[in-house]
Amino acid sequence: KELTDINALVDEYLRLAYHGLRAKDKSFNATLETDYDHAIGKIEIVPQDIGRVMLNLITNAFYTITERKKGPLAPKGGTHEYEPTVSISTKLISPLRGDQGGILISVKDNGNGIPESALDKIFQPFFTTKPTGQGTGLGLSLSYDIINAHGGDLRVYTEENKGTEFVISLPIPK
Ligand code: ADP
Ligand code: MG
Repeated sequence: KELTDINALVDEYLRLAYHGLRAKDKSFNATLETDYDHAIGKIEIVPQDIGRVMLNLITNAFYTITERKKGPLAPKGGTHEYEPTVSISTKLISPLRGDQGGILISVKDNGNGIPESALDKIFQPFFTTKPTGQGTGLGLSLSYDIINAHGGDLRVYTEENKGTEFVISLPIPK
């Protein structure tokens, strides 16, 4: 483990994924929103591992907003254009009553959402809804293991046709 600036790491992987996708596909576009809590100091993590988690969550988010853009954009009778957006935030959780404090990292998209029928499978190895060659189905299972190995938690909140939020929590040992 290494003392790591989480905000810098998260932002680095966000830019990396965004510019990587744009280099491959000129039509790829997304609005990026970031909100980093600068009260977070450096914390002890394995930066390459947390980086892999970030890259997977961000890539999944970019994938679903691109898919949604190809589908019917506006709600029936609606006039607004769909604006594919990925929002990332970090937050320091202060220790309360002797508990250990921690941080939250949220990766949120306004993509297709995850259907109820798939929700209990997404963390299983090899579960993918992507066409052959586009997904291994290993990203979330690996991410879950990495966050667990850090003593943290990975949760998902999703609504079909609205979007999905993954929230990583990591403890800061006292
Ligand atoms: P892969 O990306 O290779 O398919 P993952 O383990 O990263 O594997 O994700 C598994 C599945 O979970 C995806 O195929 C997709 O069906 C679903 N999923 C993951 N992230 C999202 C998201 N942000 N929005 C919608 N579906 C998602
Ligand atoms: Mg993935």
